[in-house]
Amino acid sequence: MKKTTQRHTRRNFLVLAGATAAGVIAAPGFPMPAIAFPFAPYKRSLAFRNLRTGDKLDIVYWADGKYLPEASREIARVMRDGRTDEVHSIDHRLVELMARLKGSLRSSQPIQVVCGYRSPETNEMLHETTEGVAANSLHMVGEAVDLRVTDRPLRYVHRVAVGLKAGGVGYYPHSDFVHVDVGPVRYW
Ligand SMILES: [Zn+2]
Repeated sequence: MKKTTQRHTRRNFLVLAGATAAGVIAAPGFPMPAIAFPFAPYKRSLAFRNLRTGDKLDIVYWADGKYLPEASREIARVMRDGRTDEVHSIDHRLVELMARLKGSLRSSQPIQVVCGYRSPETNEMLHETTEGVAANSLHMVGEAVDLRVTDRPLRYVHRVAVGLKAGGVGYYPHSDFVHVDVGPVRYW
């Protein structure tokens, strides 16, 4: 009787030892302990190119808990209306959405911006000549962007954008871009 008990005890010990060993082996793959984070860079960046003007930007737009005003100005400048050169502030939520989308796509290339800010004048012209351009487009308030990335298929960009559930997403395969905005969640 005593012998059986000892055998069970021995087996339990081995199971426990195995679990502990597995835990130790798995530990290096776990996230770094919280104490390590203060030493890690804590910032967010975005790289994109305005296809109409050719301007490029690769910039840290957020650091240590706040948006950097100089970066916001640069983003607005590069996202400007390429037809009229008018500049309008770009909603921070749209910048975050672009960064999230780029990250989710694991794209290593700058986002190609077909159209960022759109002046009322340009929007009116496009509304009258192009199908699918809304009269009250969110492009006119810096809350929408038409984009593509060179290292991912457009269909995939569309699917990932829809999955983010961050606002409106429109698919324009004939014009080779996906529209994303930070308005209500809706798809077309
Ligand atoms: Zn659009």
